[in-house]
Formats: sequence, structure tokens, C-alpha cells
Amino acid sequence: MTVIESITLMFGLVFSLSLLYWSNQKWGLVLTAALMVTALVLTLYWPLLLGAAVALLALAALHHWRPEIARGQGRENGLRDWVHHLMSLAMLLVGVQYVVYYSLLGQGLETGLGRPDVVDAFLPIAGGIELKAIIMLNLWDQNHPAAAVMLTSVLLSGLICKRAFCGWICPLGLAGKYLYDLRVRFIKGAYLAPKWLDWPLRMLKYLLLLGLFYIVIGMPADSLPYYLNGNYQKIADLKMGLFFANPSVLAMVVIAVILGLAAWQQQAFCRYLCPYGALLGLLSFLSPFKVRRDTAHCLIQSKGMKCDKCTRACPARIQVHTENTVRSDECQACMRCVAACPKKKALQVSTRWGQTLSARGVLIMLLLLMFAVPLVAYVGGFWHSQVTDATRIELMKYIHQIGH
Ligand code: SF4
Ligand code: SF4
Repeated sequence: MTVIESITLMFGLVFSLSLLYWSNQKWGLVLTAALMVTALVLTLYWPLLLGAAVALLALAALHHWRPEIARGQGRENGLRDWVHHLMSLAMLLVGVQYVVYYSLLGQGLETGLGRPDVVDAFLPIAGGIELKAIIMLNLWDQNHPAAAVMLTSVLLSGLICKRAFCGWICPLGLAGKYLYDLRVRFIKGAYLAPKWLDWPLRMLKYLLLLGLFYIVIGMPADSLPYYLNGNYQKIADLKMGLFFANPSVLAMVVIAVILGLAAWQQQAFCRYLCPYGALLGLLSFLSPFKVRRDTAHCLIQSKGMKCDKCTRACPARIQVHTENTVRSDECQACMRCVAACPKKKALQVSTRWGQTLSARGVLIMLLLLMFAVPLVAYVGGFWHSQVTDATRIELMKYIHQIGH
């Protein structure tokens, strides 16, 4: 785990401690603190210790300057935007580190800089195959273990808090938002896909997901050990790097289409093409938490007024003001609708049994899933890739010849 990863991880967990404290979740607080202290004592890994110290200092400063954010008491939109930007910044730094690592490796230089293992989160097929090998053969891949770990974290987040990963964390979603805002600044207008086209376009992401499932499920169990020990798996991340460093014409067309889509319509990439979004959308049906409208408090029924503020605030174009329970696979638990609602208690994220979840609650769950799971994996020795830089340099010479 590199310094950037360690600081980000510790910042996420220290922030969780603060949120747990202010929401009076004593058991959660004790368990999270115990996990962190145990991990620090067992590993005595200096970047983690440094990360803990930096995170504590940063949180103390945050408490001083922005106490409402440190306590998770701000309005939903402020809290979400703040976290989303910080997480994206961390991923950007990791990305820059990986680009430097990749470039030096391409010149045959062992960097000593370290490879941020979290980039394996961008290898969902490898992660899926690894999880299959663990479940079917009790075979734990050591080439890219972080791929399985991060996929597990994301899957759990979908089961528990819907597509909150998309709305609160995903850096691609945030980049798409900025691209859209930039386009609107110069070319005004919404240009939404008409309904007859919107639905088939939304299904595209499920087709892509089906393709990924086909690869993972279609691989026979007895070939899993050969695949996981093969050269392709060893340099799966470098193959991905090559895709961006030396893109084919087809790759450039695909990237241009994605960028064009993101600029054309708000969240178009998430809505139409992202297979991760599709997977989380499916899992979100199982989540006990949903956005629910209480007609006893909603202005439409309780006062007979016209109101659609929640619908207008929704980036996923869900007709919130006409639904009692939002079950849509497009809902990202972003809580913009809740923030926009003028009537307290009219709109909440809750279970069917009445337990409500505040923005702070969503954030605690997300942070714990995104950071506690990797920390446990790291302490258990299932995080760091065992492929040496020397092996990578050697295999990079034949990267074009190495296939599945
Ligand atoms: S329904 Fe509410 S929580 Fe869901 S995407 Fe729309 S604004 Fe966000
Ligand atoms: S914004 Fe609130 S009051 Fe208005 S329709 Fe939506 S839930 Fe009802």
C-alpha cells in the first residue's frame, strides 16, 4: 500500500470515526477504532501510521474551519460534494502515481515509487474471475488481489446503500458532471434523449454487463488456476495502461463517444454505458433503503399544492413527486431530492419498517465499506500484488503478444 493509498484510507476511517461519534453510534465507533489500532499495531507499516497522523491533524483542522462537515451535519448536497471531490482527488493522485510508475517501467526502470494496488479496482473482469476462483476453488490470486477486494467493497455497497457509490464516490461521475457543465456554459440546452430512445439506451449498460458476466461465468472452473497464474493476469493492469497510452483507432472512437455522451446529457455515461452502474443498479433492488415519500407530509397530498421540487432536483430524471417509493435502478442515493424538499419528513431515505438514513448515515456505510474492507484485506496479506517490477519489465517487452 503506497503512501497516497495509506493516507486516503486512514483519512476515510478517521472521518468515519468522527461521523460515528457525532451520530452516537458507540459500538460502531469502538469497533472501527479497534480495527484501526489493531491494523496499525499488527503491521507497524509507516505509511499507515503517517496516514493516521495526517488524517487526525486534517480532521482537527476541519473541525476548526468547517465543523458541520466534520460532524456530517451539513446539508446533504454540501456533504456529498465535499466527499465526492476529495475521493476524486485521491483517485487522481493515485492515477498520476500510476502513470509515472507505468512510464518508468516502460523504460525498464524499477521505480521504488511503488505501484498503487488500488488501480486494480479498474479491472472488474479480473476481480470477478478472482472472486469466482475463491468461491469455487478456494484459490486466492496473488497477482491482483486488490481487484477482488475492491469489487467486493463495491458489491457490498450496492447491496446496502444502492448506487451511492456512483453518487458519492465515483470519480468518473464527477468528471462527467464537469464536462456537462462546461458544455452547458458554451452550448446551452438540455438535449435529453426522447423517452422512446432513453429506455433502449439505458439497456446498453446491461448488455455490457452481460458481456462481462459471460466472460467471468463462461470460464470453466478447471482453467481458473491457469488463467490466474498466466502472464496475461500478471500484467492485466499494464494492458489497461497500454489501452490508454497507445490507443487504437477503435479505442479513440470509444473514448470520444464516452466524452461526447457525458457532455451531451447529465450523467449520460452512468445512465447508458457504465457496466458498474448496471451491476449496482441490479443490486440496489435488494437494498432495504429506498427514497420514500410520505404523503402525510408531502405538500401535494397534505396541502393540495403543486410541487415537484424533488423531481426537478433529481439528476437521474426520476419522477420522485409521483412515486411513494423510488425503486428505480437509476437512483444513486445522492439525496438531492431530499435536500430540495421544502417539507421536513416528506421525503426520506428509509427502510419499509421506518428506519431512516441521513446523509451522514449513507456516508458512514460507504466509507466503512470502501476503507475497512481493504484495510482488513491488507492486514490479512491479500492486497499487495506479488508480481515484481522485474517481472513486469520483462513481460512488458512482449505485451502485444500476451493474450488471454
Ligand atoms: S431519486 Fe433522489 S436520491 Fe435518487 S437519484 Fe434522484 S435525487 Fe438522487
Ligand atoms: S419536494 Fe417534497 S413536498 Fe414537494 S412533491 Fe417532493 S416530496 Fe412532496
